[in-house]
Amino acid sequence: MSTSPQSYKAELVGVFGYPVAENPTVVMQEAGFRALGLNWRYLTIEVRPEQLADAVRGLRAMNFAGINLTIPHKVAVIQHLDGLSPEAELIGAVNTVVREGDRLIGHNTDGKGFLRSVREDAGVDPRGKRVVFLGAGGAARAMSVELALAGAAHITIVNRTASRGQELVALLNERTQAMAEFVPWQGAYTVPAEADILVNATPIGLFPDVEAMPAVDMASIRPGLLVCDVIPNPPRTAFLRAAEARGARTLDGLGMLVYQGAIAFQMWTGVEAPIDVMRKALEEAFAG
Ligand code: NDP
Repeated sequence: MSTSPQSYKAELVGVFGYPVAENPTVVMQEAGFRALGLNWRYLTIEVRPEQLADAVRGLRAMNFAGINLTIPHKVAVIQHLDGLSPEAELIGAVNTVVREGDRLIGHNTDGKGFLRSVREDAGVDPRGKRVVFLGAGGAARAMSVELALAGAAHITIVNRTASRGQELVALLNERTQAMAEFVPWQGAYTVPAEADILVNATPIGLFPDVEAMPAVDMASIRPGLLVCDVIPNPPRTAFLRAAEARGARTLDGLGMLVYQGAIAFQMWTGVEAPIDVMRKALEEAFAG
């Protein structure tokens, strides 16, 4: 960390993606650095897939403290790193790289961000819970692995493409203590009465398609169920509004986005992230 007033050298982090122009992470990370007076910079960097290897070499040459990865680099980056956290190895994807001495180590903070939001924003401990995920992509993979590691008892993966859903279920059954099952997503999904948590882990309802809703039989959503959405923009999705109208408790995707960034912030700087400042910066960015 560079805190000396005599030093003009900033510590560098950022994100590699393609495309990357609409990624809002810079807003919350830089707000956090400013709030704590840290001389750090977060750069939004467009990296073409065929240039990822050179870009990672560039990180090493320029002594970056770390980097975030977004679409399409989360899996491809692994071959260029020196090691992975156990969770990133299990999930099979990296969204945060941290420099440790000369080594670049891959982590995944997406699922951890969701877990923290479930615990701190919703006040729910996932231990012993029955959880249903709509979707089986990268976000569902990271979230379901972290909930399984945190002690969720049973996980149902509901997905349109059977092979993808079955692959995630096999991973959860083979590598975690949770019991997992796959349900094909055909027509409106009926939420089982014994479910505790339902998560939309698809992009359905993401800006600008804000009125779209995942196909769920809303009559099966009852008070007592915690309904979560991964979509951060808009935070109050049509799906969450409909679930609230059925009496369910809800958790939006903004918390997950803030916490996954806050966890990366702390890994890089060694300083606890100013969560409220970062959340406010993102809310303003989405509102604008
Ligand atoms: P992926 O492309 O990896 O996976 C998308 C999943 O959604 C797949 O299971 C896909 O099913 C399913 N899906 C997509 N469209 C439909 C549809 N019309 N009907 C049924 N199923 C559908 O995406 P990610 O998992 O990376 O991202 C998912 C969402 O999570 C995005 O909106 C992203 O913005 C959000 N996200 C939020 C984060 C946060 O911090 N809040 C962090 C990471 C992601 P199939 O397998 O059949 O194609």
